[in-house]
Amino acid sequence: MSDTATKRNVKSYACGTADFTDDAGQECYQRHLMYDHVVPSHEASQRERFEAVARSLRDLLTQRWLLTQQTHDQENPKRVYYLSMEFLIGRALSNNIINLGIEPFVRRELQADPRQDWQEVIETEPDAGLGNGGLGRLAACFIESLATLQIPAMGYGLRYEYGIFRQTIENGFQMEQPDHWLAEGDPWEVARPRQTVQIPVGCRFELHDGVLRAAPGHTTHLLGVPYDRPVVGYGGRTINTLRLWGAASPDFFDFGEFSSGDFVGAIVDSILAETVTRVLYPDDSTRAGQALRFVQEYFLVGCSLADIVARFRRGNDDWQMLPEKVAIQMNDTHPAMAVAELMRILLDEAQLGWDEAWDLTVRTLAYTNHTLLPEALEKWPVRFFELVCPRLLEIVFEINRRFLADVQQRYPDDPRRAAGMSLIEEDGERQIRMANLAIVGSHSTNGVAQIHSDLLRTRVVADFAEMFPQRFNNKTNGVTPRRWLLAANRDLAELITESIGDGWVTDLSELRQLLPLADDAAFRQRFWETKQTAKTRFAQWLQTSTGQVVDPNSIFDSQIKRIHEYKRQLLNILHVVVLYNRLRENPALEIPSRTFFFAGKAAPAYQLAKLIIKLINNVGRVIDEDPASAGRIKVAFVPNYNVSLAERLIPASDVSEQISTAGYEASGTGNMKFMMNGALTIGTRDGATIEMAEEAGEENFFLFGLTAQQVADSRGYYNPHWHYQNEPETRAALDLIFGDHFSRDEPGIFTPIREALLDRGDYFMHLADLTSYAQAQQQLGQLYADRDAWTRKAILNVACSGKFSSDRTIAQYAEEIWNAVPCPVAEGDS
Ligand SMILES: *Cc1c(COP(=O)(O)O)cnc(C)c1O
Repeated sequence: MSDTATKRNVKSYACGTADFTDDAGQECYQRHLMYDHVVPSHEASQRERFEAVARSLRDLLTQRWLLTQQTHDQENPKRVYYLSMEFLIGRALSNNIINLGIEPFVRRELQADPRQDWQEVIETEPDAGLGNGGLGRLAACFIESLATLQIPAMGYGLRYEYGIFRQTIENGFQMEQPDHWLAEGDPWEVARPRQTVQIPVGCRFELHDGVLRAAPGHTTHLLGVPYDRPVVGYGGRTINTLRLWGAASPDFFDFGEFSSGDFVGAIVDSILAETVTRVLYPDDSTRAGQALRFVQEYFLVGCSLADIVARFRRGNDDWQMLPEKVAIQMNDTHPAMAVAELMRILLDEAQLGWDEAWDLTVRTLAYTNHTLLPEALEKWPVRFFELVCPRLLEIVFEINRRFLADVQQRYPDDPRRAAGMSLIEEDGERQIRMANLAIVGSHSTNGVAQIHSDLLRTRVVADFAEMFPQRFNNKTNGVTPRRWLLAANRDLAELITESIGDGWVTDLSELRQLLPLADDAAFRQRFWETKQTAKTRFAQWLQTSTGQVVDPNSIFDSQIKRIHEYKRQLLNILHVVVLYNRLRENPALEIPSRTFFFAGKAAPAYQLAKLIIKLINNVGRVIDEDPASAGRIKVAFVPNYNVSLAERLIPASDVSEQISTAGYEASGTGNMKFMMNGALTIGTRDGATIEMAEEAGEENFFLFGLTAQQVADSRGYYNPHWHYQNEPETRAALDLIFGDHFSRDEPGIFTPIREALLDRGDYFMHLADLTSYAQAQQQLGQLYADRDAWTRKAILNVACSGKFSSDRTIAQYAEEIWNAVPCPVAEGDS
């Protein structure tokens, strides 16, 4: 990270020809500032300054980016393609500066400008919120690690004009605003209209009363225009590409309608075509099942496979080489149509026979499963396939016919098994089971944490695991330490580097060298101060941007993630009400002062999740106003959770809440970000939290509650009423909520929550875990009072977080699934 290393890594500079670290960089910035918007530089807005910096950086990385592509074209290595409907990227500026290694330059040149508030310029960049949550953020971490590991790789996704909605809170309710992040353009992207691909669609789109409908019988085309974003690996050596497809329609002069005189109709068609990539569907874990979403998935697969195959053909003339040169990873089942689409290409375009095409398809594709929630397993009506891509439906039917014949041969006289494994669900409306298609049509199916992979194999798709045992494997998730530690927590990163050197940035297991420092009082003191600084900084930001006032001397306790019943924000707020009751009953009670932060979006159609947000806000208001609790406990709901908010709040958190019902959180990645940043976890034995506790030792975690096995075993006889009747604190908390203590002016508003918890059986077992949760919380509070003991554990957590780098995850995918190796890009000038 020294200046000379910087110069070596990012040598020449496109704006001038000189090194970016000399005056040419400043010149380039000034030129963009003035010429891109034709304003005198002293009148430029913050946004214009941001664009000028971003453009200068893009100029700077252009030659490396081209050199990466040339190197890959020349060496013709095996390439990895990561197909994902979501990439939750967040901001790119800070990360690109850090990964290019030009921070010293930026600090010197840009911060020297007195007119420029650097922090404000960074904040001008909108989050690229092209995802809902963990799954999309994982894709973003993965492509960064792929570039850092110098693996020839490309991400493929959609260029949504509207990302995940912006959340505001009004009177405690979530409000959704459109996130038009592209309104002012994206200075990082490069449009490549010359590489446009054409996707056949078996229907036309029509608008009826504002609803987009598919009308059968007219085959049309969609155009996919690639928009490329650079993905800078740490050190700036490899710059891979994230290719996002924007939908367009063919020039209307090509339309039959035009020659037959329907000029307006042709233009309307072109507008409708463009709606395909207009907006990201804001559902997390549950699928809404709309036809437009189906078209989006088909569009991603059609565009990406055409592009991948064309690139393969440029470097190879033998189709047999496909699995040697191409690995395609499907992020969940959203791109699972790739199975049928690759078959279509190999059958119809390459003219291969079925068996050969099938062998190549299976060896090229791999699938990552992300969920254990049965309602989140995707199914698409056969009718949608018929309408949009009838040829793919024919292929799916043929895959299924052959597959069921195999099943029949292996398990004669087991129709129940065959019906469960069929790619087609025959009950009710016929639907294609996308997970079954993905498993049958690929050589690898992985879960994202050990427990998740185990449950997948033994419960969710046990019949498949029995038939194809060698296909099933685990790849525990990780997060990139560049964004989540080096960039997000500069102070802690510096302290670590000062103590053990900077090797941890690309080999996070080196954090183990911090272990002995947990017993070093001076180090503990500095570690503590780092956390205090982050807390104070966050408190200031929160007050400035939302008006909420929090005390940096209180414990910062955070649950930030999508709002979902299985993640159990409700359990957290129930515990807050238990604490509040204790304070009301015994004003002299000594409890450590605590701020409970909540942040997260609820899917707009998920009414109960939205009501949980309302409850959290109402409890927060009453607690603030009641002298029994004010200043002792506080609830702060921070609106509009996104990547940038996570980057601020995680470094400032003392406590990480990972309290899902055991057996339901596939992995989690928020849990890992907190661990690296020195928070202690209170959590259930679920997802990757289990492995985190294994790494750090359970004595350094606050684990509580039912295990996944116990949850499964108690289904059928679990009775929430028992807890209500026999646990006084549980009863008092529920009585307070449902007696409208937190909703004086809105009586009965929380009734649906009461119904879920008591009348409908409390499916996620909040009441079963509330008592052990409260006990764990109490122990946690006691430990916090012993600053040395607390800090010691926090340091041990950081030291043991090395496994949860996405570099480790990607190295395992590369070796065990993709058989891909790094393809280093030469140092120095191109
Ligand atoms: C990491 C992250 C998530 C995933 O959080 P979990 O706690 O694993 O659900 C979701 N959203 C954002 C913005 C994130 O940064």
